[in-house]
Amino acid sequence: MRAEILSVGTELLLGQIVDTNAAYLARVLSDLGISVYRRVTVGDNMERLLAALRSALDSADVVITIGGLGPTMDDITRDGLALAFEDTLQFDEEIADGLRAFFLKRNMPVLESNLRQAMVPTDGRAIANPNGTAPGLLFEKNGKAGIALPGPPNEFIPMVDNHVVPYLRQRTGNIGTIRSKVLRIAGVGESLVEEIVKDLMLDSNPSVAPYAKVGEVHLRVTAKADTAEQADALIEERAALIYARLGTAIYAEGDDPIERAVVKLLTERGETVATAESCTGGLLSQRITDIAGSSAVFMGGGIVYSNAAKSDLAHVPTEMIEAHGAVSPQVAQALAEGIRNRFGTTYGVGITGIAGPEGGTAQKPVGLVYLAVAYPGGCEVDEAYYIGGRGTVRYRASQTALNMLRLRALSS
Ligand code: ATP
Ligand code: MG
Repeated sequence: MRAEILSVGTELLLGQIVDTNAAYLARVLSDLGISVYRRVTVGDNMERLLAALRSALDSADVVITIGGLGPTMDDITRDGLALAFEDTLQFDEEIADGLRAFFLKRNMPVLESNLRQAMVPTDGRAIANPNGTAPGLLFEKNGKAGIALPGPPNEFIPMVDNHVVPYLRQRTGNIGTIRSKVLRIAGVGESLVEEIVKDLMLDSNPSVAPYAKVGEVHLRVTAKADTAEQADALIEERAALIYARLGTAIYAEGDDPIERAVVKLLTERGETVATAESCTGGLLSQRITDIAGSSAVFMGGGIVYSNAAKSDLAHVPTEMIEAHGAVSPQVAQALAEGIRNRFGTTYGVGITGIAGPEGGTAQKPVGLVYLAVAYPGGCEVDEAYYIGGRGTVRYRASQTALNMLRLRALSS
């Protein structure tokens, strides 16, 4: 079965709201094993809505529209679908009574426009909406179906879960399922990841697709099969291949961020960390302490923004800062070792760099960051050149620090 998602609303086209409903629905349809070949957005314009509906019905078995079921003039989805399905709308007394009761309860007048929401397709039916006034609508003709759902997510999502899913399940019979797993990779760039799994990307079932994120890459492995167990087995077999190639570069699966992987790893190992952050201003410690249970591994740290703070809190010698500059590998190392000593932790992390937009020089440009991880018996120092604005440079630096810490813990 093929489906098309048609989002209706000028505010979507203007970028004023993000189409989270369509994303939600796309995931639901994929879990049902229904292929979504196209997702379209149109404004509140009847001519363009109708063209989009007709085109959708040409190629898809089911078209699901989002939004435009309200009472106002710009809510045209109901009429558009009736035209596209060559159906007429009938006034449903029961729904109208419900609407009247709704407004009465709130001491509001029932306007003529409100009663438009009681219009339902002659060859179809209404879909209950317990969280709002506009019912959803189901149109059916010549083996094709049109489902109209309201835009507010608190109405939309329960209607998808409670009505659309059972309806589509029944319509499709058992046509299988599509399942996915995401492998999260740090420390290897997108192009290199692609190079490493290029041959796997040619297969369509299971399929492998890379997504570049800030400071990391995600590989999505997707499989289609009759049952969830079969799809998962296909995914696991493919994931095992990818693990064999990328090894510890894969830090987690699913939704877990790298800070969670780090906290988990250090907890398992019974190890601790302290941080001395200059250009990241506490972002690293914030990310670590965002994770519940981080108190077992994170002992504390300092925001060593000024030179004085570097010396006071992490015992970096003033002469070292004068000789090499605050942004230098020597100072990064001294920060990591100093904070590790001060807190008596397994690891110490030092970060110093130039987040920009000002403060760069030819020798030390904006985006230059030195990162260090001190550990029992040594200290590893890394030099990074990040591109992007101030926020991106800071985020990437915290990302690299977390990955260095992770790899260090794994290797010792
Ligand atoms: P209403 O009865 O509230 O007018 P409606 O079915 O006419 O509902 P819209 O007017 O299109 O829906 O949208 C109402 C609100 O729902 C929007 O202002 C927006 O906040 C939210 N919304 C609409 N479409 C989407 C979407 N695709 N994704 C997320 N939110 C949406
Ligand atoms: Mg509306």
